[in-house]
Amino acid sequence: MKPLIILKTMLGLAPNCKKVNDFLADYVDGTLPEKTQQQFEEHIGMCKCCGIYFDQYRATIDLMKEGQEVQIPSELVEHTMSFLRKNANFTRK
Ligand SMILES: [Zn+2]
Repeated sequence: MKPLIILKTMLGLAPNCKKVNDFLADYVDGTLPEKTQQQFEEHIGMCKCCGIYFDQYRATIDLMKEGQEVQIPSELVEHTMSFLRKNANFTRK
């Protein structure tokens, strides 16, 4: 983790968390443009919040693909909400 990148993320200069959240479904589907996909992966790699979020999201999708009956865990829903709230605060600062 490079401190400069973290700082840039905090200042909103790097691809921001909200954007990443918007791209999440497309990324998992593999429909993102290559450049966007790279930015997405970059952000997931350096942003702890999005990294955890992405892991949970992907794990849920994987279970669905395996044909298991999956109820979207309420923690994931809650995480999404707190994630969005947190990032809404983030951009205002
Ligand atoms: Zn993030």
